[in-house]
Amino acid sequence: MMKKNLRFILFMLCIPMMLASCIRPDGEGHESRKEQPTLGDAPEHYYESVEYSYQTDVNVEKLLTGLDSDYLLLANKEYVLGADHAPASVVTLTCDTYLNKEVKLESRTAEALYEMMEEMHAAGVTDISVTSGYRTYSYQQGLFNQYLKNEMATISDDARKCFSSDYLREKYTENGLTGLDYADARVVVLSYSAFPGTSEHQTGLCLDFVSSGAILTTAFENTEAFAWLKDNAHKFGFILRYPKGKEDITGYTYEPWHYRFVGREAATDIYYGNLTLEEYLGVTNE
Ligand SMILES: [Zn+2]
Repeated sequence: MMKKNLRFILFMLCIPMMLASCIRPDGEGHESRKEQPTLGDAPEHYYESVEYSYQTDVNVEKLLTGLDSDYLLLANKEYVLGADHAPASVVTLTCDTYLNKEVKLESRTAEALYEMMEEMHAAGVTDISVTSGYRTYSYQQGLFNQYLKNEMATISDDARKCFSSDYLREKYTENGLTGLDYADARVVVLSYSAFPGTSEHQTGLCLDFVSSGAILTTAFENTEAFAWLKDNAHKFGFILRYPKGKEDITGYTYEPWHYRFVGREAATDIYYGNLTLEEYLGVTNE
C-alpha cells in the first residue's frame, strides 16, 4: 500500500514538469516541419467552363476569383504553422454566431462568408450560425494543455476508446491511479484535438457551422444547411475541408461542419475534382 501511495505521489509531482515540457513553441516535437507547397497545376481545370448563377446580388470581387497562395495556406499535422503565424487582417464577425459568441476571421474570408450567408438565407436556409473561426496558437496551446490535464486526472470515455480495458486496468486501476500518464494522455488528446500549430483555425481562413441539434457533430450532415453548403459553398470560395472517405489524406475524421476559404477558382476545381486541399496542392504522396 505504501509503495502504491509513493508511486502515486511521485506521479502527481511529475505532472507539472511533464506539462511544462510537452508544448514547445514553433511546432517543435514534430520531427520535420515542412515548407509550404508551391502551387502547382490543378489536376483538372473546371473553373473556366463553370457558369455561376446567384439568387442574390453577389459581389463576385469579394469571392477571390483568381488564385492567391495566401489563401491556399496548408495547415495540418505535417504542415505545421509557427507560433508567430497569424492572418494579416482579422475582423470580428457581424453575422449570426452560435450563442452570440465573438468569432473572428481573416477579413476577406469574412466578406465572402457574408455573401454566402445572404444567398443561403435567400434560399430559405435560416437555421445556421457560425462558431470557431480564427484561433490563435496560444489559445490552441491552452486548450491542448487543459485537455492533457483532464486526461491525466481521470480515465475518460475517450481514453477507453483509445486503449483496451485490460491495458487501463493493469497499468492504472490496479496501481491506484485514477488518470493517465503523460504519454498515454497525449495519445488520447491527439485523437480529438489538434496539436498547437496544426489547427487550420490558426489560419483564420476556416470556420465551423452550427444548426440546431447539430453542434459540431456528424448530425450536421442531415441538416438543410449542409444540403445547401455541400453543393453551393464552392461558388463562394469555400470547400468542405475534411470530407468522408478522405481521412487518410487530410489526417482528420469527417467534419461536415468545417469549411475552408480558398477563393472561388480553387474551390471550384476542388469541388468538381472531388479533391481535398492536400490533393489540389499535390502533397499527398510525400
Ligand atoms: Zn473547425
